Amino acid sequence: MFSYRHAFHAGNHADVLKHMALVAVLRHMTRKDAALMVVDTHAGAGLYRLDDEFAGTSGEAQAGVLRLAEGAAGLPSPAPLLADYLALVRGFNRGPELRIYPGSPFIVQHLLRTEARDKLKLFELHPSDSRALAGNVAQLQAGRQVTVTRQDGFEGLKALLPPPSRRGLVLVDPSYEIKSDYGKVITCVQDALQRFATGTYFIWYPVIPRPEAHDLPRRLKTVCNRAGKAWLHATLAIGHEETGPAALAPEERRDPGMSASGIFVVNPPHTLRADLEAALPQVVQLLGRGRGQGHLVESAG
Ligand code: SAM
Repeated sequence: MFSYRHAFHAGNHADVLKHMALVAVLRHMTRKDAALMVVDTHAGAGLYRLDDEFAGTSGEAQAGVLRLAEGAAGLPSPAPLLADYLALVRGFNRGPELRIYPGSPFIVQHLLRTEARDKLKLFELHPSDSRALAGNVAQLQAGRQVTVTRQDGFEGLKALLPPPSRRGLVLVDPSYEIKSDYGKVITCVQDALQRFATGTYFIWYPVIPRPEAHDLPRRLKTVCNRAGKAWLHATLAIGHEETGPAALAPEERRDPGMSASGIFVVNPPHTLRADLEAALPQVVQLLGRGRGQGHLVESAG
């Protein structure tokens, strides 16, 4: 518990998929006048340096947002969502180099409207990250729009649903460092749908050789289909550089780190599928490393 620090992974391919889709969802949800509440159950530290020892050691941003930004500059016509996401990330940086990467709390807050209308509720359990998050949020001077609570986000969510405005987005983005997180995500979505059936629930998960990870989207589809809820599922795989026999097991590959991840959105905006279908092929083109690279977008309802 608590060995996971998102600073090592900030701006990697998984953040690219998650944050790009988050931008698409929020752009749509903020088009309607009515007030919106966003809950981030696993918020992280909020802002990350891409040139510190965390990101520098892992090199994950190098193979993610940094490579994407460089490559996108050469695309004849970048997809609108890809351009939107990269412009948003650039907006947190002063010069042309990307040194700062916004985590989900800062991406969401940037897209929200006035304090009086939209609210953002952040949960983060890690002592250092919740302190860093509170400090970063204080710099925003967002008044009462953003609250930070050091509490288990799965538990904290319950008291917030349904939101007073009856319009809400919930981002569920655990680190899955403990296997029980997979089951907790399912229970969380089932419970949240009972409390607030029309909410939009956005779940991120790793595509790794672990039965619980493999089963998660299948179980979420079952929950949605039984409840009669629309869903969208998308994955991004950057693949592996070929360094040996094609039959190499994942744990034997030179880069055994996660090379794919997925998002599952319950009650997605109707525009999300088209947004992702336009952007993800370009992301694969720019970030793909070889065998296994690709993307998937599927939806129902
Ligand atoms: N959502 C962030 C983003 O996109 O920028 C990244 C979050 S990171 C993948 C997961 C975070 O959840 C970690 O910072 C971890 O400390 C925190 N965490 C782990 N278990 C938690 C829990 N039960 N409740 C709240 N936060 C938790």
